[in-house]
Amino acid sequence: MDLKKMEQGFRMMLEGMGEDIHREGLLDTPRRVAKMYEELLSGLEDQSSEDDLLKTQFTEAYDEMILLKDIPFVSLCEHHFLPFIGKAHVAYIPGDRIVGLSKLARVVEFYARRPQVQERMTRQIAELIQKQLNPKGVAVVLESSHTCMTIRGIKKQGATMFTSQLFGLFKKSEKTRSEFMSLIHRRDHE
Ligand SMILES: [Zn+2]
Repeated sequence: MDLKKMEQGFRMMLEGMGEDIHREGLLDTPRRVAKMYEELLSGLEDQSSEDDLLKTQFTEAYDEMILLKDIPFVSLCEHHFLPFIGKAHVAYIPGDRIVGLSKLARVVEFYARRPQVQERMTRQIAELIQKQLNPKGVAVVLESSHTCMTIRGIKKQGATMFTSQLFGLFKKSEKTRSEFMSLIHRRDHE
């Protein structure tokens, strides 16, 4: 990532807004903004490791659902460059191999840290798990609040966007799908 160029760009935006870029409070802002975007978009600089994300696999004769729910994520809406913030729920039914749960969270993080649309991010997570692990089924549900909607335009505060991508048994079997849905909607106090 070219941080110097990003700094220059943000300085131009400030000028375009009619701000005084030599004002004390703004002096270091372009550098901070560039660093912030570098962090939020770190998935872009990580491209080469896509195939390695789920490389460490274990042979295991477990053939029921494995679910990691409420994985927090922050991503950037590529249309407005404002964050959308939410939770991912990722499940799979193993073929003959499983992966560490933290690896599933890592996949979510990897696809969140780039300019995104939630629909694509949902599909990318599911496709990578399908491709790398070849399980009997994959289910990914993302729920999030889009600040490009909650702080501007029609200002629908509290509106939540849900997206899902299902493969294999989760798509074919009504029973598997409803087990997944009831697990992700179960709250701790119930
Ligand atoms: Zn947006």
